[in-house]
Amino acid sequence: MKTYKLLTPGPLTTTDTVKKQMMFDHCTWDDDYKKITQEIRAGLLKLAHVSPDEYTAVLMQGSGTFGVESVLTSVIGTGDELLICANGAYGERMADIASHAGIKYHIYNEHYNKVPDARKVAELLDENPHISHVSMVHSETTSGILNDIEAVGKVVKERGRVFIVDAMSSFGGVDIPVKDWGIDFIISSANKCIQGVPGFSFVIARKDLLMESEGKARSLSLDLYDQWKTMEVDGKWRFTSPTHVVLAFAQAMKELEEEGGIPARNRRYTENNRLLIKKMGELGIHPYIDSTHQGPIITTFFYPEECHFTFSQMYEYIKERGYAIYPGKVTEAETFRIGNIGEIYPEDVEKVCELMKNFLEEYNHEEN
Ligand SMILES: *Cc1c(COP(=O)(O)O)cnc(C)c1O
Repeated sequence: MKTYKLLTPGPLTTTDTVKKQMMFDHCTWDDDYKKITQEIRAGLLKLAHVSPDEYTAVLMQGSGTFGVESVLTSVIGTGDELLICANGAYGERMADIASHAGIKYHIYNEHYNKVPDARKVAELLDENPHISHVSMVHSETTSGILNDIEAVGKVVKERGRVFIVDAMSSFGGVDIPVKDWGIDFIISSANKCIQGVPGFSFVIARKDLLMESEGKARSLSLDLYDQWKTMEVDGKWRFTSPTHVVLAFAQAMKELEEEGGIPARNRRYTENNRLLIKKMGELGIHPYIDSTHQGPIITTFFYPEECHFTFSQMYEYIKERGYAIYPGKVTEAETFRIGNIGEIYPEDVEKVCELMKNFLEEYNHEEN
């Protein structure tokens, strides 16, 4: 089978050394295996710049959404109200989760190309004293915009509310001082910027708030408190753990450290992203998000003017030559997306832009 590299926002291209870890069938109750889980949990707290006295890390089976659903349905009590700040599909998904679970919520919708405004959040909190929790996405993968969770966290904390952040596509690729930014629960998953493979999500949680949530969960398997309580004993997962994925993730964490930690990874992603936008600009292809708010993870591009090809024609052409790109997801414009996270380097960006150039030339040639 012909292989290709993924220029998608996760799952993403992993190293061979990460993939190789999955060749071993580990025993779930074995002490060595449980130790790996505990090391991962401790390592995640370090990446989040928080102390194990105040915060804890919980791993949860499933994809990223399972982690978000676990937090929202476990820590928000029946009398509580949630304010969701949404400027993309992942913010909107939180509203979907809340309505399925019967959680009372308010939504502050912002345009997909604008970041939620902290002043507006402050106003909403002042008007609605019943709002107890605020949630938002950091890197909105729908568009590639990087939201200002620091500014929003500040107003949420000043008003004594709980702050929940979906940092799925940014954690590990963008440095987040979790406590300093007023974040109480932050969620990400194995197959994004830490560069593991899909299979679990993780939550970094304020311990006191997690403990207060005992008995509040609306779901058995997504009960964050119960998952934590079991895992906290000695690293054993509550139900079958994704052993191969856990081994691959432990290796991915090592490789993140070897690269120079989050600052080094952020530099590589940022360099990839700047180069991508510059080279695409030379082809007349421009980003949907303006440069002040464009994040380093993924970019939404408008199609070049006067083009008549479909996404699948472009996708097939590029895939045949070694890269998979992503369709657009913003609702009001015709766009496509190119991610630059994972085992991706400037030479890959150069190559995909060259392919795009060739595609446009061949296509225009056929048209004439
Ligand atoms: C990837 C992602 C998720 C989770 O999606 P899954 O398909 O469940 O892994 C949630 N939020 C954001 C911002 C994401 O990028």
